Amino acid sequence: MIIGIDDTDSKKGMCTTYLGALIIEGLSKYGKVYENPLLIRLNPMIPHKTRGNASIGIRIDTNSPEKVIDFVISKIKEFAEMEDKKTNPGVVFIFEKNISKEHTVKLVKFFNDAVKTVLSIQDTKNIIEELGLKSKGFKNGRGLIGALAACGAMLDNTWDYTYEYIAYRKLKSCGTKRIVDKDSIYKADHATYPKTWDTVDIENNIIVCVPRSPDPVLYGIRGESPEIVQYAASIIQSEPFERFCVYKTNQGTDMHLIFVNNISEIENMHSYSIEGVVSSIPTIIQGGHTIFKILDDAGEEIYCAAYEPTKNFRKIIRKLSIGDRIVVKGSVNKDTLNIEKIEIKSLVNCFELSNPICPICNKRMKSKGMKQGYKCKKCKTHSNSVIKTELKRELLIGLYEVPPSARRHIAKPLIRC
Ligand code: ATP
Repeated sequence: MIIGIDDTDSKKGMCTTYLGALIIEGLSKYGKVYENPLLIRLNPMIPHKTRGNASIGIRIDTNSPEKVIDFVISKIKEFAEMEDKKTNPGVVFIFEKNISKEHTVKLVKFFNDAVKTVLSIQDTKNIIEELGLKSKGFKNGRGLIGALAACGAMLDNTWDYTYEYIAYRKLKSCGTKRIVDKDSIYKADHATYPKTWDTVDIENNIIVCVPRSPDPVLYGIRGESPEIVQYAASIIQSEPFERFCVYKTNQGTDMHLIFVNNISEIENMHSYSIEGVVSSIPTIIQGGHTIFKILDDAGEEIYCAAYEPTKNFRKIIRKLSIGDRIVVKGSVNKDTLNIEKIEIKSLVNCFELSNPICPICNKRMKSKGMKQGYKCKKCKTHSNSVIKTELKRELLIGLYEVPPSARRHIAKPLIRC
């Protein structure tokens, strides 16, 4: 049996991955629970999300499916933050043996759509009914979207994946300051990078793996294999924790990106990879954000932004010039693409224009006015041509990314590319 769960937490507490870990432990009395449950990141632009738009998938071999269903529903009722109006849990159960090839294709497509597009609760309920799936939606049932998507992910073995080891605090500690030894985190990163990533942001001296919200997560280590994330975690010294879980995940994969050729195909609340030419000078706006426009081959333009949290990444962006050919990757909101990564494909030659030099006295000539040429005041010499000096571009062709502290869960770090 496959179980998909979503939307159990609120900004004040809980975390669906924690509930997943609790359910996995409890389910062991009803059968064999498979290792590495799924932590699926869905469309990062969904406004209803609490934090990282995650859902959970669990697989169990069981002879007591009804007991499994009752147990999972009772745990959701017990732990979900039901009183928060934005929490609308959903759970879907699929008997793998009963699922046809055609239904599997539908569910896999649903998973892909949930990562890349915006889906409705009603369409999700229709699919659940059409496929005859067992499910339970609480309140408006929005969580059924993520829950069904996690089931689709379970049935698909074609997606790129990574792992995350998540340590969970004792519930009584939640809301208090997390105690994790900073030096040991840097040590763990040093010992396992680049097979683990986004543990620390060295350039900005920020610990990335320890969240600040009041949820039960103590820290999370992301990496290429279950072994490497567990090894990194074994180096970290911290407050005693309640439990841990190693999830298989689509984090760090860029699965959210849609590759398009034309800006006209771009919609808000979706994420893209698109090639274009810089068509406006990067400008710093209020808040320290840097914005500029790109132009595609069809003559359409879109704003691109490197926001303040991307820190030094903005310095790269500010060195772009009109005419540079680039590929930008990122999510679109309010008709602006929030850059997660950039590939600089070619740089234009940039020139500085200056007034000509007088051949007699070697002094710079003065302009005589618009389109009237230049004149040396002293020698009365005249010239119509300006001096064009090529400027050294302080930018190299290649790939650049935002720092770990500004990276989306689902975005692929360059170290994995
Ligand atoms: P949690 O840890 O509880 O999962 P979260 O940050 O992952 O927190 P949720 O509280 O789950 O966010 O809220 C996201 C909501 O958006 C869920 O109800 C989920 O079903 C729904 N959702 C996810 N992906 C999509 C999508 N592509 N289109 C529409 N709704 C979506």
